[in-house]
Amino acid sequence: MSENSAEKIDKPERRQFRAIKGTRDILPPDSALWNWFEQSARQVFESYNFRDIRTPIFEQTDLFARAVGADTDIVHKEMYVFGDQRALRLEALQEKIEEGAADAERENDQKLFLEPVRQFIDEIEAGLAAGEMEASRSAFDSLAENYRRFDAIASDQAMRCEPEFGNLRGDLSFKCWDFPIGETLALRPEATASVCRAYIEHGMQTLPGNQKLYYVGPMFRRERPQKGRYRQFYQVGAEVLGPSDAPAIDAEVVEMLLTLFHRVGLANIKLYVNSIGCKECRPKYVELLREKLREVKDRLKEDSQRRIETNPLRVLDSKLPEEQPIIETLPRISEHLCDACREHFAKLKEELALRGVGYEENWRLVRGLDYYTRTTFEVTAAGLGSQNAVCGGGRYDGLVELLGGPAGIKGIGFAIGADRAILSIQESGNLPKLPGLAVFIAWMGAKAYAPALSIAKKLRALGLAVELPPEELKFRKSLGLADKLGARYALIIGEDEAASGTFTLKRLSDAQQQKLDEPALLDFLQSEFRGANAR
Ligand code: ATP
Ligand code: MG
Repeated sequence: MSENSAEKIDKPERRQFRAIKGTRDILPPDSALWNWFEQSARQVFESYNFRDIRTPIFEQTDLFARAVGADTDIVHKEMYVFGDQRALRLEALQEKIEEGAADAERENDQKLFLEPVRQFIDEIEAGLAAGEMEASRSAFDSLAENYRRFDAIASDQAMRCEPEFGNLRGDLSFKCWDFPIGETLALRPEATASVCRAYIEHGMQTLPGNQKLYYVGPMFRRERPQKGRYRQFYQVGAEVLGPSDAPAIDAEVVEMLLTLFHRVGLANIKLYVNSIGCKECRPKYVELLREKLREVKDRLKEDSQRRIETNPLRVLDSKLPEEQPIIETLPRISEHLCDACREHFAKLKEELALRGVGYEENWRLVRGLDYYTRTTFEVTAAGLGSQNAVCGGGRYDGLVELLGGPAGIKGIGFAIGADRAILSIQESGNLPKLPGLAVFIAWMGAKAYAPALSIAKKLRALGLAVELPPEELKFRKSLGLADKLGARYALIIGEDEAASGTFTLKRLSDAQQQKLDEPALLDFLQSEFRGANAR
């Protein structure tokens, strides 16, 4: 072995890994702020009798395509789609079958073709047996039948190179290629579709009343990363699913959302509401809008021009300054709602007033997803630049049925962008006082170690955050570290203290010290950290 190659083995190429573009690590102390935000949401939502639902992070791509709408940016451009393991294995096997066919031809040995085909069939059979794969039984049976005929011919040496061999091989490999391999999966870009899928799958419509559910978790969209916009981001959301579409449900959901935003001290929040009608009145309005837009087409920019035909409502979303005066002249949906929708919207506004929820009507709030009907709303907050929407939501009465569920199930929900909400709180500087390290145990001398361990355990049992250095430190170093870690107290245990069964407790903010025996110490610290300061 040359010196050079020996060196290569000793020193593999150094490679640093970084988080994928658009994703980020949330480190302490920020992670504590995140936990506090999520915990606040859980508390507020549970006080409205919403309950946690946890759905998978990936689903069949088609679920999102159907729910969100195939024509939306999310489905069109932003989803992370992949084949699952079995789909990938089947694909690899199909390639092997092709290779095997070529080898069989060259070597004049059909067995070279048989092996990968058998593996392919085994894989499908295992997938069917494990319920991981759905396939048409008849397609599979005919594939397996062809394989058996082929196997019989190939194992009869005398039949080698018979013309039938060629026909069968073509037939068989065609059938393998044609076989539906596993469907693709997608990382969820949002969670409403998953919640509805779960509702349907578990027959939750048979449960009493409306189902009030909330979720917390990451979502994935391949967007251009910028402030307040990431490829893995976090949503805290809630959904109400059930037979009723009473406006009081919409109002309760909005009230709950704003209660959370007030609780966490989000600054300058503004609530916008709108109604975008139902399948009775919206299509007529959209047609009217399209006609009016065609009249002003020349004065619009390219995106809006295209949307006149594909999705005219989205033109109302335009932020281009030069388009604003034109949009102001367009017909407004509020003047074209059917009676039922108009009444629903009026009741919602009454309900909001009754609950002391301030709002602004915004006729241009149409939202990007296809499934919304009637109520839509959005909340903006300070400190976020142009990415200032911290929450979007609305009613989606037809979605459960669209996803194959029972008819007549109504739905409404929202999703808060946790990244943006937290960013806004950070920018405003209005941060909560979160519990940090309560006690640092400065132990010195071998005899102090066992009492240190014992008292640490008791303090932790009280719910306090306690740091105990794993190795003995000199007194000064120990207190210096306690300070750097931001401990509220240092508990000093030297050999003297160990012998007398007492502790010296030092408050680090003002260096005030007291000597306490164990019961007095536990008492004192428990009352010091009672309530908000205990972890
Ligand atoms: P936007 O118009 O800002 O793209 P959206 O209409 O796509 O928002 P929704 O699908 O309604 O957003 O999601 C609800 C909330 O999730 C948004 O109001 C926002 O706070 C947050 N959100 C959406 N996309 C992202 C992202 N890529 N990064 C961070 N937060 C996001
Ligand atoms: Mg978006």
